[in-house]
Amino acid sequence: MSAPSDAQRMEKIVSLCKRRGFIFQSSEIYGGLNGLWDYGPLGVELKRNLKDYWWRVMVHERDDVVGLDGSILTHPAVLKASGHVEGFSDPMIDCRTCKAHLRLDQLVEKKGIKQCPSCGGKDLTEARQFNLMFETHVGAAADESSIAYLRPETAQSIFVQFKNVLEVSRKKLPFGIAQIGKAFRNEINPRNFTFRSREFEQMELEYFCRPEQGMELLEYWKEERLKFYENIGISRANLHVRNVPDEERAFYSKGTYDIEYDFPFGRHELEGVAYRTDYDLSQHQKASGKSLEYFDEETKEKLIPHVVEPSAGVDRTLLALICEGYAEDQAPNDKGEMETRTVLRFHPRIAPIKCAIFPLLKNKEPLVVKAKEIVQLLRPHMTVFYDESGAIGRRYRRQDEIGTPFGVTVDFETLGEKDAALRDTVTLRDRDSMKQERVAIKDLVETLTPRIRGFISI
Ligand SMILES: [Zn+2]
Repeated sequence: MSAPSDAQRMEKIVSLCKRRGFIFQSSEIYGGLNGLWDYGPLGVELKRNLKDYWWRVMVHERDDVVGLDGSILTHPAVLKASGHVEGFSDPMIDCRTCKAHLRLDQLVEKKGIKQCPSCGGKDLTEARQFNLMFETHVGAAADESSIAYLRPETAQSIFVQFKNVLEVSRKKLPFGIAQIGKAFRNEINPRNFTFRSREFEQMELEYFCRPEQGMELLEYWKEERLKFYENIGISRANLHVRNVPDEERAFYSKGTYDIEYDFPFGRHELEGVAYRTDYDLSQHQKASGKSLEYFDEETKEKLIPHVVEPSAGVDRTLLALICEGYAEDQAPNDKGEMETRTVLRFHPRIAPIKCAIFPLLKNKEPLVVKAKEIVQLLRPHMTVFYDESGAIGRRYRRQDEIGTPFGVTVDFETLGEKDAALRDTVTLRDRDSMKQERVAIKDLVETLTPRIRGFISI
């Protein structure tokens, strides 16, 4: 059998996401709303694990970063000062033949003539700027004065609250403010499953520093962020650092790295690490008339801090985790015959369910009682799933497919019927190697916890 093509692989991943409850199309029963997605029972767990781990590494494990949770509806003055009202747009073109709305860079060119990628039509409108922000009205008056925007990025509330956070946290440069939250962009063509959607979540850090520290911190954060991806199970071989050239960078940025991932649909950006200089704080100071300066007590100098911004997408990283983890291999079924198995090889720290617990037979009361005791024992420490239906091999397979790293089976040996020495031990199965070890029930928590937290590699 030849390896499936990338397109086939992506199709299988999308289908698995729906079938097992990771990702559903938004408003599906009404035909769906383009570019919007809902996360199902397993998707929401995966997402929480990803965000919690980011927060742990970027905020809790550091002395120099504090958090913020800003509002989504944003004052228009904020986005005027940041340049979004004027310039946050993509050039758009319409195809007069099939009525498609297209981004300028999506046109195909044949023999020097630009064509519509959907129908091949050459009757195209001139390019015009299409602002990607969602506009709404706050309060009862639906006029100019009540306009507000759904934020196109979480970063702006960090800049706008810089002074408040500085005063309450009493941090000294360099220090950072982190935020995880929703952002909205009215993409002309949402595509590639959840990769480019109209509503998405960001994990952003604005790390403020003295001007002379900027370039060095840009390198530092690029390396930190690469480590993060490796620690959630994304192989370094599938990550690429792109040094964004001058002509593609924002005019105020002195350096930007894109961290890209090899998705089945191509190499695309997971995260941007940008040295934004003092542009954002300067703009807001100018527009608001309020000082956003930092007073350096050692040098007795007032300055507008510079900022390095690692900005990651939650949804794209989650999609990368699923693409990275997706595998098909061979495993024996209940009759001992080899068959194809679908498995999500999630790192245990981000897997939605950490441990599945099975009684070997569901109609054998002592096995069921013991298995349910183990559920209660493990539940305070990790997410667990109890399953008693079907042959044991099929139950393993169902857990493999959703990426559960560990399976505990209560069998007759657990009851001590064959060998008293094995009483109150269970088999612990590893998802990837499918190897089984015998572990005492009382040792389960201390055996599993370090493997899940990643202190012991498996
Ligand atoms: Zn067309």
